[in-house]
Amino acid sequence: MPDRIFNFSPGPATLPREVLAQAAKDIVNFKDRGIGLIEMSHRGKEFMAVMEETETLLRRLMAIPDNYKVLFLQGGASTQFAMVPMNLLGPGKSAAYLNTGTWSKNAIKEAKLFGKIEVPFSSETTNFNRVPTAGDYSVPAGMEYLYFVSNNTIFGTQFQTFPDYPGTMICDMSSDILSRPVDVGRFGLIFAGAQKNMGPAGVTVVIVRDDLLDRTPEQVPTMFRYKIHADKGSMFNTPPCFAIHVVGLVLKWLDGIGGVPAIEKFNRDKAALLYEAIDAGDFYRGHAEPASRSLMNVTFNLPTPELEAAFVKEAAALGLDGLKGHRSVGGCRASIYNAFPREGVEKLVEFMRQFEKRNG
Ligand SMILES: *Cc1c(COP(=O)(O)O)cnc(C)c1O
Repeated sequence: MPDRIFNFSPGPATLPREVLAQAAKDIVNFKDRGIGLIEMSHRGKEFMAVMEETETLLRRLMAIPDNYKVLFLQGGASTQFAMVPMNLLGPGKSAAYLNTGTWSKNAIKEAKLFGKIEVPFSSETTNFNRVPTAGDYSVPAGMEYLYFVSNNTIFGTQFQTFPDYPGTMICDMSSDILSRPVDVGRFGLIFAGAQKNMGPAGVTVVIVRDDLLDRTPEQVPTMFRYKIHADKGSMFNTPPCFAIHVVGLVLKWLDGIGGVPAIEKFNRDKAALLYEAIDAGDFYRGHAEPASRSLMNVTFNLPTPELEAAFVKEAAALGLDGLKGHRSVGGCRASIYNAFPREGVEKLVEFMRQFEKRNG
């Protein structure tokens, strides 16, 4: 058994090997201080430097405008499902949500606790096999914001172009942040759990425009107020120090290989290899409509559930791990985030050809 295999896990997901090696060292002895990073005060100069560097790099890599705050919070992306409406809605206020899968459904459920929710688009009747294009829906007037999920991790769909909405847009980018250039200035708030494309579980990045910080109703508890975290530089309480540090290492790695434009090319190339293999015949069938296909999570089915089970099992034996699809789609899912190597995709494509020859 080699010490590393190809990990197609949807999240927590594969990270660059050099990042893991550095993180492992830093746990024991950070910058030759004789103290591990996770044993240090978060207010000490070493960790303060980590925080600053990580934010600076993220701002540079995503070209985040100066009128946005970058927050490093806990509670996962799921806490943002509640925090967004808690801060931006209230009695008598409305928001629109595009329903493109499990993660938007979960967000809609939470938002309904805080305001009136409109859902101008849903692809639920076709098991979320697509995202909308501009002509598919219209957002009612009077909305506080339009909410959507840029990449639907479970169903393997992704917005190729973002809604052309003139008001405030809120986006869950948990599974495709930093995978392609995004014009942050078009959004009111972007959030992403780190564990898909940016680092380990435990930290959620929130990028929020300044003017949205002052809308929070009075009765919202301290820890759930964006403004508190913004004013305190994400240090109102102890931040998830280690997770933030690893995000910083991932950002350095990304910067070193050419940043977001370079990784986008790499991601497009990897995904194209896989979709070509799916489209080569009738044996493999993609779940997502071609125009909605995700570059991050490639979902597909085989002719029968028995063949799907055999496929996943045989692939795992070859060191291609984590290909079983989510139970709500069945079939297979290959998650090929930024850090997933092309070599692993090539190996999967080769296995797909062989498996079809034997079973097709
Ligand atoms: C994984 C995921 C979530 C949930 O993230 P948690 O950090 O586990 O709460 C939310 N949205 C999207 C798009 C995801 O992929």
